[in-house]
Amino acid sequence: MKLKNPVVKKLCEKYKTVSLLNHIDAILGWDLNVNLPPKGGQERGQQIAFITKQITDIFNDKDFKNLVEESKTQRNLTPEEKAILRNLHKASEYYDKVPAEIITEKSKTTSEAYMAWQKAKQDDKFGDFLPHLKKLIELDQIIAGHIGYRENPLDALLDLHEPDLTASFCKKNIVALQPGLTALIKRIQSKQKFGNVETFVNNQQNYAVDAQRQLALYVSRKMGYDLDAGRIDVSAHPFTTTPGRQDVRITNFYKEHDFRDSFSSTMHETGHALYEQNINQDYDQTPLEWGVSYGIHEALSRFWENQIGKNPHFLTFMTPLFQAFFPEQLKNTSHETFIKLFNLPKPGFIRIEADEVTYTLHIIIRFEIEDALINNKLKPKDLPEAWRAKMKKYLGVVPQTDRDGVLQDMHWAGGSFGYFPAYALGNLYASQFLHYMKKEIDVDGELEKGHLGSVLYWLNENVHKHGSRYWPDELVKVATGESLNPKYFLNYLSEKFTGIYG
Ligand SMILES: [Zn+2]
Repeated sequence: MKLKNPVVKKLCEKYKTVSLLNHIDAILGWDLNVNLPPKGGQERGQQIAFITKQITDIFNDKDFKNLVEESKTQRNLTPEEKAILRNLHKASEYYDKVPAEIITEKSKTTSEAYMAWQKAKQDDKFGDFLPHLKKLIELDQIIAGHIGYRENPLDALLDLHEPDLTASFCKKNIVALQPGLTALIKRIQSKQKFGNVETFVNNQQNYAVDAQRQLALYVSRKMGYDLDAGRIDVSAHPFTTTPGRQDVRITNFYKEHDFRDSFSSTMHETGHALYEQNINQDYDQTPLEWGVSYGIHEALSRFWENQIGKNPHFLTFMTPLFQAFFPEQLKNTSHETFIKLFNLPKPGFIRIEADEVTYTLHIIIRFEIEDALINNKLKPKDLPEAWRAKMKKYLGVVPQTDRDGVLQDMHWAGGSFGYFPAYALGNLYASQFLHYMKKEIDVDGELEKGHLGSVLYWLNENVHKHGSRYWPDELVKVATGESLNPKYFLNYLSEKFTGIYG
């Protein structure tokens, strides 16, 4: 990428250090989750905090700030130079507007809250976590006040995770899906066609971890994951990280009684990795080098996990392979069994275990609760009750414990209010990508043959390569010709599950 503007050039020169530090931070984090001996935790925490401080110092550096100011008056910029400045302005805005002592206080509060949450979840004692939660909500309200917002303080927090996202957009596009989703679940359940497929994944089964690992390697290679520029390791919670432009790693977790989890999460994490591996190399070490947002990242990971990995045609292709990897357990199965096994819509308590249909309802519950908390319409002490009421209303199930309820996710303990809608947006973007991809490619036909190349090519050309060149809404327009339209998601679910269950 040729940069002409001297101010942009100077900023990009300085940004290279941020890029290197981010990659070092990624390798420290990867090692923390994959290899670190228990006693190494304390110093690793200091090392990561040190790197974070170096990055903050660069954004707060006088020369850097002056260049950012100067850049605001530059004219005749190329579209890429404009995108670089937009991203840098956005990144420095947080450090500009939020006082350093609040940022420090938040980081201290979240590390204490995280430990308290782990213990409270283990003991199933919400009350032990409550004081930390109160403090985190207050801090996020203060942060929202510093950042500024037009309508709703939650807007300021949503925007930190997904540029330009607002609460009213979430209400119109995500919360509005609730009646359609609830009706769809009821319709599928009334058919009573699940059969006894779950006997294949009950606690009596044993799927050898080594075979699961081989299957993970098989499917990620098939998707186009470059293992000379990546690797697959084991961690308690699967994740993807980018320690270098030619080093994009994923992790997995293998459950012995259920082969589906590691298969689906391999496809999910490989989806994240394919995004990072296929960004235009001209953008290396510039503010365009990453995937643009959590929402788009989740769109791509969930696209591979669900739209491809749980597609009945792909599962038909995979049937003899599943049987070859696990002959003892699966020799007497048919492709219909696998199609149902991977597509069982059933309301449950846990978001990360939710199927494609109920998943978004979990996000709606969290969004409504966050909206109420940040706007002081719900007292933190009343949270467990509010949680149970919403679970009952939207999913028809009520968890017996707070461990399976309000304490299940770590995001609030990490002070990440405003993060969850990105997951739901991912589902919506993914369905819209599929809709437009199908206009150019016979997706089902390709999947039935196990050909994934044309799907990857479409994503590379329309989404991946752009990195952070476009913000999410613009990117969706560039890729599909229209802004985000939630109708594609409901249409996709309805068509798919009617196909399976009638
Ligand atoms: Zn993900």
